[in-house]
Amino acid sequence: MIKEVDIYKVISQHLEMEQFFTGFTLKGQPDKLEPQAQEDNMAVAEKAAELEKIAEEVNQCRKCDLGQLRTNTVPGEGNPNARIMFVGEAPGADEDAQGRPFVGRAGQLLNKIIEACALKRSDVFIGNILKCRPPDNRDPRAEEIISCLPYLQRQIEIINPEIIVALGAHAARTLLNTTKSIGQLRGQFHEYYPGIGRPPIKLMATYHTAYLLRNYSQENRRRVWEDMKSVLAELGLPIPERPQK
Ligand code: SF4
Repeated sequence: MIKEVDIYKVISQHLEMEQFFTGFTLKGQPDKLEPQAQEDNMAVAEKAAELEKIAEEVNQCRKCDLGQLRTNTVPGEGNPNARIMFVGEAPGADEDAQGRPFVGRAGQLLNKIIEACALKRSDVFIGNILKCRPPDNRDPRAEEIISCLPYLQRQIEIINPEIIVALGAHAARTLLNTTKSIGQLRGQFHEYYPGIGRPPIKLMATYHTAYLLRNYSQENRRRVWEDMKSVLAELGLPIPERPQK
């Protein structure tokens, strides 16, 4: 049962969430997030089929102990041709129940951020480092990351996004192979190396939306929005603004 104090926190966060990540508009006509590099529909269909194969493998996977504990796997979802790929840490209770990434409160906040960028959830791909929920939302263990990471690496290889947005310390540290803190990593572009012979992919680290909900200060929200504005600018997409009052 949610404690009384938590209810007030949830309500005030919800209202602030409504206020902070809404009201942004694009000047002129909004640009559509065009599919990358003029690839034809067949190529997109092939990518979708490859991603589906990975999802089926994940559904059968028991490579680590989390496979015994899950209700559903959460392979990830979104546009096979996405220019932006969001990567979080691991599914939570809502995601485990539904088999979809970022559908709980942290997911609602991510939706708000995506909409504030004048994008739709269907424009981007959303996944996690782990495809099964750790019990009690504990941190991922090294052996779990080692077992599960190849699925995400293959997803990145297939989608080949222009930018990866790593949500939170675990995603950023894993993809960048570093022990630096999210405070040190966020706010600047890094490079994710997808493998020998493949060019690096730009990676922006920012706070996980679950962290943002727990630490819902104006400063933290501004930092996330600054990170997302850098992503939009790097992609050559227009940056929504609040109308002047
Ligand atoms: S977390 Fe990943 S490696 Fe572990 S059982 Fe689930 S899909 Fe397999």
